[in-house]
Amino acid sequence: MYPKPIKNFIDKFSRLPSIGPRQAARLAFWLLNGEKNIREDLKKALEGLGKEIKTCQSCYFAIENNGDNKCHFCDNPSRDHKTICVIEKETDLATIEKSGGYKGLYHVLGGLFSALDTAIPKNLKIPELINRIESKKNGDKKVEEVILALSPTHEGDLTAHYLERLLKPLKVKITRLGRGLPYGSDVEFADAKTLSGALESRKEIK
Ligand SMILES: [Zn+2]
Repeated sequence: MYPKPIKNFIDKFSRLPSIGPRQAARLAFWLLNGEKNIREDLKKALEGLGKEIKTCQSCYFAIENNGDNKCHFCDNPSRDHKTICVIEKETDLATIEKSGGYKGLYHVLGGLFSALDTAIPKNLKIPELINRIESKKNGDKKVEEVILALSPTHEGDLTAHYLERLLKPLKVKITRLGRGLPYGSDVEFADAKTLSGALESRKEIK
């Protein structure tokens, strides 16, 4: 029904999370009928994602590609370096930071297990988390607590159980978010009060 370039745009954009073909079509026509500058700005912003962003070598949060290897959390001596909060994705970090209840470090897993996975998904930064804890075990920044701040979903539970098994031999305190977050919800969309309450009431896994 649509000309080829629009069909192509819809095809590419509807692969993005939370965007369906109908929304992609609406976006295409909005961009087509809008100012040319918007399309140019978007093009530059997309290119910038590839060229100007990399990940922190410690926690895998996104940082600017300007010579630094660590993010401003890992590089900040006033954060609590003995506590690591394990999260699924970068946007969960933003929600936890906004809640104001957490001053430790993070570890971005980059995804969760799915019920269909028969092996550990390769893209998850799980071996990196284990190495990170082990490499610090004899220093003054020894990790004492790992908070599994994963969404209370089937995938979140599967991932948490797997991590618990791997982390136990490392002799760190393992906790999970406490009350407040309803089952099936996403950490990213939790409100600040609920999330700071869930962090405060986190429970130790023994
Ligand atoms: Zn970092």
